[in-house]
Amino acid sequence: MIDVRELIKRYEGRIAVDRLSFAVQPGEILGLVGPNGAGKTTTLRAIAGIHPPSGGTVHIAGFDVERQPIEAKRRLGLIPDEPQLFSTLTVWEHLDFTARVYGVREWKPAAERLLAELELAERRDSMADELSRGMRQKVAVACALLHQPQALLLDEPLTGLDPRGIRTLYDLLRRRAADGAAVMLSSHLLGQIEGLCTSFLVVRQGRLLFHGTRDELRARYAEQVGPDATLEDIFFHLTEGPAAPPAAGAAA
Ligand code: ATP
Repeated sequence: MIDVRELIKRYEGRIAVDRLSFAVQPGEILGLVGPNGAGKTTTLRAIAGIHPPSGGTVHIAGFDVERQPIEAKRRLGLIPDEPQLFSTLTVWEHLDFTARVYGVREWKPAAERLLAELELAERRDSMADELSRGMRQKVAVACALLHQPQALLLDEPLTGLDPRGIRTLYDLLRRRAADGAAVMLSSHLLGQIEGLCTSFLVVRQGRLLFHGTRDELRARYAEQVGPDATLEDIFFHLTEGPAAPPAAGAAA
């Protein structure tokens, strides 16, 4: 569903994403993890067609994000790290606007359901400026899910959410994945996404260090980090140290 091949992104000559290749299948929830500056946001933005890649290709449901942007984006939902809302629109008006942009007919029952699930029903007539950080995040989630995207990207989605909000979001993502969506989310909080994600992509300095399941991650590094190592221990082992290990042969 999401197919990334040899993705390269340079900013003013500096490499932020270095030949990243991976795919996310329907039903999969992929956790994109890496330290600050690893290239997570850049990767998600390139997949979403916001920042054109310097090299490589991205396909969403078979559509090239650069060459067939409308077809690709129609099948994609992005929740950015900083939710961008319109200060003078209400929560409900955001959903109305989103439905028009994506041409979603009969959107109101789905919108009502999303607001109820995200505990926003009572705030449907509030202006975006009147909402808390977590509520704004939830509005961004509702808008991204309204057109039932087949590929869903979330950049640091836990920021600002309370424990109930996190659980609600995880339930929503699990259901979307069970319905066949490919989900990809970035996070620093490996412990928190460990139970949600079905696979992991570990990056550092824009390079792929590991791609596979939690069990594969443990199996591959148990000898070096120890049999009782947590996923976080393995993450530190992989992402800290004087230099990034070579990407060659890193993919599972
Ligand atoms: P964080 O965990 O801190 O959010 P990240 O893994 O999301 O980091 P990116 O934001 O993708 O990392 O940044 C990767 C690299 O690209 C960094 O070196 C960053 O300075 C650089 N970078 C990101 N955006 C830009 C930009 N608009 N212009 C120039 N350089 C950029």
